[in-house]
Amino acid sequence: MSEITEADIRSRTGEAIEQVGVDADEVAFRGALWDAGLAMVQFPEGKGGLGISPMMQAAVEETIRDAGRQFHPLAVNTIGIGMGLPTVLTYGSEQHHKKHLRRIFTGEDIWCQMFSEPSHGSDVAGLSSRAIRDGDEWIVNGQKVWTSVAHVSRFGMLLVRTDPDVPKHKGLSYFILDMAAPGVEIRPLYQITGDAEFNEVFFKDVRIPHENLLGEVGDGWRVATTTLMNERVALGGSTSPRGTGNIAMLVDAWAEHAGAMSEAASATMRDRVAQLWIEAEVGRLTTMRARANSTVGNPGPEGSVGKLASAELNQRIWNTTMDLLGPEAMMHEPGYPLSRSDESRGMGGYTLSKWFLRSQANTIEGGTSEIMRNILGERVLGLPGEPRVDKDVAWKDIPS
Ligand SMILES: Cc1cc2nc3c(=O)[nH]c(=O)nc-3n(C[C@H](O)[C@H](O)[C@H](O)COP(=O)(O)OP(=O)(O)OC[C@H]3O[C@@H](n4cnc5c(N)ncnc54)[C@H](O)[C@@H]3O)c2cc1C
Repeated sequence: MSEITEADIRSRTGEAIEQVGVDADEVAFRGALWDAGLAMVQFPEGKGGLGISPMMQAAVEETIRDAGRQFHPLAVNTIGIGMGLPTVLTYGSEQHHKKHLRRIFTGEDIWCQMFSEPSHGSDVAGLSSRAIRDGDEWIVNGQKVWTSVAHVSRFGMLLVRTDPDVPKHKGLSYFILDMAAPGVEIRPLYQITGDAEFNEVFFKDVRIPHENLLGEVGDGWRVATTTLMNERVALGGSTSPRGTGNIAMLVDAWAEHAGAMSEAASATMRDRVAQLWIEAEVGRLTTMRARANSTVGNPGPEGSVGKLASAELNQRIWNTTMDLLGPEAMMHEPGYPLSRSDESRGMGGYTLSKWFLRSQANTIEGGTSEIMRNILGERVLGLPGEPRVDKDVAWKDIPS
């Protein structure tokens, strides 16, 4: 490991900010961080990083905030940066790296993740979208569902079946899909919030060049596991400053509404708010500690701890906010308008009750809480696995 200190990182970040300008547009600003090796410090030199521990990333983010710029490392392209970047870095060729890495980080190319299918969300390895080789290309047919931001994406991470004659985990391959390719059809799916953050994606004889393969043919499950482990860390781990984010919205709502409550109700609610504030802070410190312990490379199954804890905490925060608001929580805009953001970040201008509705997805997206508990039980605690009767059966022979 290198001898780069936290002070070095702060001064490098300061120099990069000075060069590009603190008010530079997002693409230019993020591009400057990439070129200075400050985008993902654990990445190799020349590829957005410095090959040092990811714990140093916090110093970059703090320096940017201290300079007066609002900065969220993922928001501009959450799936691309949180999951696409590490997957392409790990399994992509030099050519893939040159073409994609920087543009993912700057947000010039939004990426989506196409794993889930109508009958295969938790059991994603059982999916049935098929790719058949045709010379230097693959022809894809099938359907994905719940594909977040597909409608604004330039590329997608696509997991498909390339061999139905072997057990389900062994017959998958992983491709980078050009979302503008002929035969890709994207249809919006509206959520309980009224937003269509996600989509159905249909493939009809879509041709993908063989060079878009990540990993080997039939090794898609291993590549997908890298994406999923990084997804759990991206969804679970926030190290934003103390008392910010969702817990700040609850505390603000408390400050606004506590005065109108009876003394007894107010005292009970104060205890609940304080307890959640403590839990949010424990989560934040745990994430920081996990970051400090992590090394260069991809996360393991322990990333599920943060995903599980933060999803369930988030729902408790929003349940409490609704109790605090009382009947006002049930007020929604007349007509319950449906909307679809043109940006990957979406979800702007939500009311508190819309945030409550959105939080219902937290224990489903990125793997349900039940699946997180299975992973933690089996792969972290070493408990006996659940029965998997289809493990050694050819995928085509598994009854559907
Ligand atoms: C907002 C949102 C965004 C999403 N974005 C994407 C995306 O961009 N790309 C993508 O590919 N997918 C995406 N998803 C899909 C998500 O990954 C799946 O919904 C999730 O993995 C669950 O799959 P499922 O919906 O098929 O539920 P199912 O797998 O059918 O599960 C139904 C219920 O059974 C339980 N269950 C299933 N298997 C087990 C088991 N073995 N043990 C115990 N309980 C079990 C589950 O926990 C759940 O409660 C998104 C979902 C949401 C809500």
